[in-house]
Amino acid sequence: MAASCYIHIPFCARICSYCDFYRVLHDPATEQSFVAALLGEMALRLSDERGLPAPLTTLYFGGGTPTTLSEQSWRRIFATVGNYFSFGETAEITVEANPESATAEKLQLLHELGVNRVSFGAQSFSTANLERLGRIHNVEQIALAVQNARQAGIANVSLDLIYGLPDETDSSLDLDLKAATALTPQHLSFYALTLEGEVPLRHQVQRQEVSLPDDDHIAKRYVTAINFLGDRGYQQYEISNFALPGHECRHNLAYWEQRDYFAFGPAAVATLNGKRIRNEPDLMAYIKNLSAGRLPPHEIEHLTGSKRLLETIMLSLRLTSGLDVTLLRDSFGYDILIKRGDLLAKLQEVGDVIVADGFIRLTGRGMFRSDLIASSLCPDFV
Ligand code: SF4
Repeated sequence: MAASCYIHIPFCARICSYCDFYRVLHDPATEQSFVAALLGEMALRLSDERGLPAPLTTLYFGGGTPTTLSEQSWRRIFATVGNYFSFGETAEITVEANPESATAEKLQLLHELGVNRVSFGAQSFSTANLERLGRIHNVEQIALAVQNARQAGIANVSLDLIYGLPDETDSSLDLDLKAATALTPQHLSFYALTLEGEVPLRHQVQRQEVSLPDDDHIAKRYVTAINFLGDRGYQQYEISNFALPGHECRHNLAYWEQRDYFAFGPAAVATLNGKRIRNEPDLMAYIKNLSAGRLPPHEIEHLTGSKRLLETIMLSLRLTSGLDVTLLRDSFGYDILIKRGDLLAKLQEVGDVIVADGFIRLTGRGMFRSDLIASSLCPDFV
């Protein structure tokens, strides 16, 4: 039984220049229709459940920018969530937030509703970078948002940072890491900039108006950052995620560890009972269908044994805990040490992989090209 739930809030106050997520500009009227549709989706999907689901151990509001929602919307959503789910005593309840929208009042409201973790999209502590990324917030608002969260009683704070930015240097990244850790968040997500789809920053790069660091520099900075954060007590537990001991994001771990989870919202993806259910990312279709009492357009993927096997390899190698060789063999009949023994020996030799104690783990260097390595370790039917 799933014990995690994700809720997608698709609104943003401004669209960032690098963002290829599904999101729309916020407007109050659409927000009201969206919330009604969201509550309708929960009612429709959960009516299939026999009895109440097990208590949730994690609930995660992602976006978009969930903190664009009004107080009234938050109260309606939490009232409905509370009708369908109970929470374990130590449940982790996270809201993603943009610093400028994380006012003292909003964070107090969220704390009152049960939120105990907030993840701020800081991205950079350089004014020039924030402007280039099209971020709506400024550097000062990051520190203020962290302070507001703590004063509201939300002690568990995470910051997102992006590296591989235009005109990035070793020292500019060092400044970002120092500024981020100076705020003593419990958790840091450290993502490489990826420019996918038709995003404005990608076009600027193509027109050579801005230049990105090359892969060798990015890889070196990634390894430097792992060491920098490690020296300050932030243990890496996933390719892009670091935490003080005991503060790993339990919601995201459920995803990487392939546990089932509910998901609601216009771009939500749930995994339940051997199926992956993907809502079509289209807010208007979402609202239209749910206001007529129908589920939104979605696709269902059946997670066959071979798909599970691939996901186990790809997702386990993202984690520093690594891939359990015995579990892989016993669950899927794939003896990776025999089938990929030569390749693993080569990867060990160049320092990308460590094979020890029945686990395959990527090194910092290997993490940087994890997708490539994980694909090469998958069986031939891929
Ligand atoms: S705030 Fe986040 S979701 Fe919204 S546009 Fe910017 S990067 Fe995308």
